[in-house]
Amino acid sequence: MKPLLALTLGFLGLFSATLSAGVVTENGRLRVEGNRIVGSHGDPVAVAGVSHFWSQWMGQYYTRETVDWLVEDWNITLTRAALGVHPDEGYQQSPQREFKKVQAVVDAAIANDVYVLIDWHDHHAENNLSDAIAFFTVMAQIYGDQPHVIYEIYNEPLKVSWSKVVKPYAEKVIEAIRKHDPDNLIVVGTPYWSQRVDEAAADPIDDPNVAYSLHFYAGTHGDDLRARATQALEMGVALMVTEWGTVNANGDGDLAYDSVAEWMDFIATNQLSHAAWAVSNKNEGAAILKPHVTTISGWTEDDLTESGLFLRNLLREGVRP
Ligand code: MG
Repeated sequence: MKPLLALTLGFLGLFSATLSAGVVTENGRLRVEGNRIVGSHGDPVAVAGVSHFWSQWMGQYYTRETVDWLVEDWNITLTRAALGVHPDEGYQQSPQREFKKVQAVVDAAIANDVYVLIDWHDHHAENNLSDAIAFFTVMAQIYGDQPHVIYEIYNEPLKVSWSKVVKPYAEKVIEAIRKHDPDNLIVVGTPYWSQRVDEAAADPIDDPNVAYSLHFYAGTHGDDLRARATQALEMGVALMVTEWGTVNANGDGDLAYDSVAEWMDFIATNQLSHAAWAVSNKNEGAAILKPHVTTISGWTEDDLTESGLFLRNLLREGVRP
């Protein structure tokens, strides 16, 4: 390489961290092709990051400052705004407040050139269809042209039928989104806390850009769930791990290092994107922050829980168990 060119590239490299060009500029709008999610270039894209916690209970992290820090210090390429929909408290009780939180994270993701999941974080979305349609209609109107945005229209259905309950809900929400956004990726949760991807694969939604959510908690889930996911992939659908945990399915317990290692192998083999639960200082194993930590960015290693430290190393350095 000619010295002048090398010098110029070195100079550009110095400043690359401050330029906004990132993973979305590099890969464009995501789309499903066969059982993979690919970029505008046609090659598989797998991005990774951490999910925010239920917006109504950890709203302090729904800020530009927190997302900036996670991009800068954790190297996240995917974030997830979890709009809390719950009978006690959340979007339906305080729609404007919760909407603004989600919008803050989505805008911050766009400013940082990373992907963002707009997650309808609900366990009974089939009962809240009209609210979901209204919410995603507005989101599609505002963000439908942004390649950063991925709609996650149902976090975790419970013990309900895919074909009779979840799929009909999803088709109506997708129809509403597609009126304003014909092409962005939509991810649909699957029954039994987004573990029955095989049921969705057996009766997929008729839309060219839909993938299905696979959720796992390493302390609880292993070979059986991976077998169902493999079956779904072999049936030709694309999957995204929009939520996973290093601990037990209740969000607590010790970090399950051996099981996380097996899951990371599976994720790498199948080129899956993933977002870990959760940006939170709740006193539980899945939280990335210790309970006494009240800052919303600039965390030291001592501020992070065991899970937080592990995830930061995984995302920053690719360090695996
Ligand atoms: Mg679009």
